[in-house]
Amino acid sequence: MASTVSTRSNSTRPTRREAATSTTKSVEQDLNATAQLKLTSLLQTTIELEPLFELFFGQMQHLLKLGSCQFQNEHKNILIKLGTASTHSCDYSLNIQQQYLGNISFSRKQRFSSDELGQLEAMLGTLVYPLRNALNYRDALNQALSDPLTGLGNRGALENALEHQWQMAQRYEQDLGVLMIDIDFFKRINDTYGHDIGDYVIKSVAESINATTRQTDMAFRYGGEEFLVLLNKTTPLGSTIIAERIRENIASLQLKDSQGNSINVTASVGGSHLHPGIDKNTLVKEADEALYRAKEAGRNRVEFHENETASNHHGHLSV
Ligand code: GH3
Ligand code: MG
Ligand code: MG
Repeated sequence: MASTVSTRSNSTRPTRREAATSTTKSVEQDLNATAQLKLTSLLQTTIELEPLFELFFGQMQHLLKLGSCQFQNEHKNILIKLGTASTHSCDYSLNIQQQYLGNISFSRKQRFSSDELGQLEAMLGTLVYPLRNALNYRDALNQALSDPLTGLGNRGALENALEHQWQMAQRYEQDLGVLMIDIDFFKRINDTYGHDIGDYVIKSVAESINATTRQTDMAFRYGGEEFLVLLNKTTPLGSTIIAERIRENIASLQLKDSQGNSINVTASVGGSHLHPGIDKNTLVKEADEALYRAKEAGRNRVEFHENETASNHHGHLSV
C-alpha cells in the first residue's frame, strides 16, 4: 500500500558527504533499520493520537536532537505541539492512498543535513499507518460521543468532560460553572408544528448555545430539549453573564416554519458554581434545581444556585 510523505524544508540541503565510506554507510543503514524496527514496535503500543506523537517525538528527539514537533490536521481541528520551536525547520504532508492525514513539522537549533532528512523521512514512513489508525479511532470515538441531531457531545461525552474538568478544578483550584438550559414549552412546539420542526428548533438552539459560549466552554445535549454547558475557569460573575447571553440569544432566534410563520422560542437557564465540599454530581443537581426555579418563576429567565455553607450539600445525581 502506498504511503506518501511529501516534503517542504527550509533547511538548505547540503551536498552529500562524499567522504563517507561504504562501510560507514552500511553501519548507518543498519542503525537506521534497527531504529525503525524499534520505533515500529513502540508505535504499536498505543492507538491514541497524543500518546502516539509523544512516543514518536521522544524517539526522534533522541535520534536527531529535535527541539519541537507539531502535528496539524485543520479539517479535523487537531493541533498537537510538543517541545520548543527552534530556528531550523522542515515539514511534511502525510498521506496514505489519497487520504490526507495531516501536516507534521520539526524544528531544532542546527540545520538538517541531507542524511538526517532522509532518516527523518524513513521514520515518518513508520509513523503513517499507526497515525491513520489513531485518526480513525479518534473519529469513531467522537462519533460515539456526539449527538447526531445537534453535533454536540452526548451524555457519555459529558460524563468524561465533567470528570476531567472536575479533576482540573480541584487540582489547580480553578473555577467551574455548570449551566442547564431547557427549551420552554417545547411540547407545545412539537404539537403545533410537528416533530420535524421540533428537531429543527433543537438544532437551532444548540447552534445558538455553541455560538454564544467561548471555545473552551463545552456544550452537551443532556436530554431531549435540554442542554448542559461546562464553563471552566469562569468566575460566578462570568457564568451569570454567559447564562444571560445564552438566554437572550435563544429568545432572539428568528425561526420560521415551512409556511414562513415565526416560531417563538425561549429557554430557561439554571446555573451552579463550584464551591468547596461539593462533588461533581451535586454541581449538576444544583444547576438542575436552579433551572426548576427559573421554570417556576415564569420561564425565559436565568436562576443561579445560591452557595451557602458547603457542608449543607450532599446530593447525588448520576450523569
Ligand atoms: P417546560 O417549559 O416545562 O420545559 O415544558 P416542555 O414542554 O418543554 O417540557 P416537557 O418535558 O413536558 O416536554 C419536552 C418534550 O420534548 C417532550 C418530548 O416529546 C420532546 N422531545 C424530546 N426529545 C425530542 C427530540 O429529539 N425531538 C423532538 N422533536 N422532540 C423531542
Ligand atoms: Mg425538559
Ligand atoms: Mg422544556
